Amino acid sequence: MGRETVFIGFGSNVGDRLDFCDRAVTLLSLLPHSQLLGVSLLYETEPVNDHAQPGDGWFLNGVVQIETDITPNSLLTILREIERALGRDEENRSGPRTIDLDILFYGQRIIDEPDLAVPHPRMHQRRFVLMPLNELDPLFLHPSLQRTVSQLLAEAGKQPEVRLLFPQPSTRYGSRPACSQSPGS
Ligand code: ADP
Ligand code: MG
Repeated sequence: MGRETVFIGFGSNVGDRLDFCDRAVTLLSLLPHSQLLGVSLLYETEPVNDHAQPGDGWFLNGVVQIETDITPNSLLTILREIERALGRDEENRSGPRTIDLDILFYGQRIIDEPDLAVPHPRMHQRRFVLMPLNELDPLFLHPSLQRTVSQLLAEAGKQPEVRLLFPQPSTRYGSRPACSQSPGS
């Protein structure tokens, strides 16, 4: 099986947002056949009402980078299970969300299926996705647009507002766990 680098975006805009993000990152760090390579800093983001109605609550957003053997469709199933476990309202999926997990990039693969589109179709316009991605891998190439994350960020509009959360709640955000392991572990 070919290991692929995968970026997963997370966001929460209701309840104890930090706790939902912490738990999502913990669960993502425990995925089988996978290794956590990096966790971005956390950002606070004005809600966008482009295609969903998430309400007025500002989001906490970030991105996790993993390396995995899990197939894209299996990963989507797992992400939905994590969303459900963290209390995402299935009746009103487009409303306020305890946790939203999106596959942003799955290596250089382009997937266009009814329930799975990768790269995520709106990611290149969203600064709350591009800013954390840019921390983790600014030169990562968007496979269909053929532009790097840093180019996409430079071209994205300045709205809605995205602020780096300050202070950051813990050192796990903005870390590269895989790099801190001792050699051979
Ligand atoms: P959004 O995240 O765009 O606000 P939702 O989380 O409610 O919206 O979207 C849920 C559905 O989007 C999922 O059930 C899934 O089938 C579909 N989907 C399509 N592409 C992706 C992707 N790359 N990552 C996550 N979900 C996706
Ligand atoms: Mg989603």
